[in-house]
This record gives sequence, C-alpha cells and structure tokens, in this order.
Amino acid sequence: MTSGPRASAEAQQAVDFLKGLPREWSGTSDHDCKTYEDKNIDNLSRSFATSAGEFLKAFVAVHGAVTITSAYRSAQEQECVCVGEKGPCAGRPHVKKMKKGKRIVVRSISHHQLGIALDVRPGTGSEYEFICLQEFAQFNPQFGVRFPFGKRDYPHMEPAVLKTFITRPAALGAPRAAPAPCKILKMMLTDEPVD
Ligand SMILES: [Zn+2]
Repeated sequence: MTSGPRASAEAQQAVDFLKGLPREWSGTSDHDCKTYEDKNIDNLSRSFATSAGEFLKAFVAVHGAVTITSAYRSAQEQECVCVGEKGPCAGRPHVKKMKKGKRIVVRSISHHQLGIALDVRPGTGSEYEFICLQEFAQFNPQFGVRFPFGKRDYPHMEPAVLKTFITRPAALGAPRAAPAPCKILKMMLTDEPVD
C-alpha cells in the first residue's frame, strides 16, 4: 500500500475530485438514505478513494458525465438502503441454515460499510452507458478498480485488490499512456454540458 506525503496528497486530490462530481440518490431503494454526501466520501478508504478518483477523472475526460449515487455507508445507512431494494442486500438480516438443521440469523456486511465500494452512474444510466463504464475499467487495469457484479449490480465499483494494494505502477514522472476508451459508446448520452 502506498503511504507518505505524496500518497496522502494524491488521496486528497482524489477525494476533492469525487466531491466535485454530481451526486444524488439512485432511486432504487424506498428512501433517499443520503449515502452520497461529503461524509460518505470522506469515509472511503484512502487508497480506494485515490483509485476511484483517478479512474473516474479519466472516464469523464474520455466519455463524459458520471454521477455518484452511493459511497461509504454506516450500519444504519446500509439498513436504510436495503428497504425496498429487490434481491439480496447486505445488512438485511437473513436466516442461514447451519449443519444439523440449526438456523441462525445473520447480517452480512456490505463493502460500502468498509469504505471500499462506490456506486456510480454514467450519463443517463442506460445499459449501454453502464457497459461502457465497465469496459473502461476492464481495458484500463492501471486504475485498480473493478465492477465485480457485472450486470447484476451495474453501478457497484470496488478496488481491484491486486492492482490497488500491491502494485501501483504510476511511477513518479513516468509518461502515462492515454486510457483506452470503451468500445460500445463514444460519449455519455446526457445533454448537460460537460466541463
Ligand atoms: Zn454498491
């Protein structure tokens, strides 16, 4: 893991960039649990915030608008987003069958609660746009992020563990290759001006 003054300056820049992106509720739960506010960005893991900020900055430069819909979540916030969410949701208690027919109630922990997940919506949030965003992560592993759930949870981004925590090839002063664009789309479909 990177540390020291250079890494923390990078992390601060990334956090500032993330805070500068449009942020709003995704609308997929019953309530707006406000898990995209400054406090939610500040509680992301520093190294993930750095990767995510650099990745989204490059994506915006190549393809256009991105909106953050959820970042770090406290246990209460995680419970809130599970209300009305279809399908399994970490944080919602569920019964687990154990050996010998024993049943216990478990509540799993979302990576959002650990500060290592960010939900993002490219452009207007169409399927093509989400595929473009996921391709961009795949084609540019140097940023160290991935979308582990694919189409089962399009917006959900996490650190690509090996890249983020073991090798960060962004050597000091090394010329960076331009990121590879996604194949499916050129620009996001938003009609808002991108600046
Ligand atoms: Zn998520």
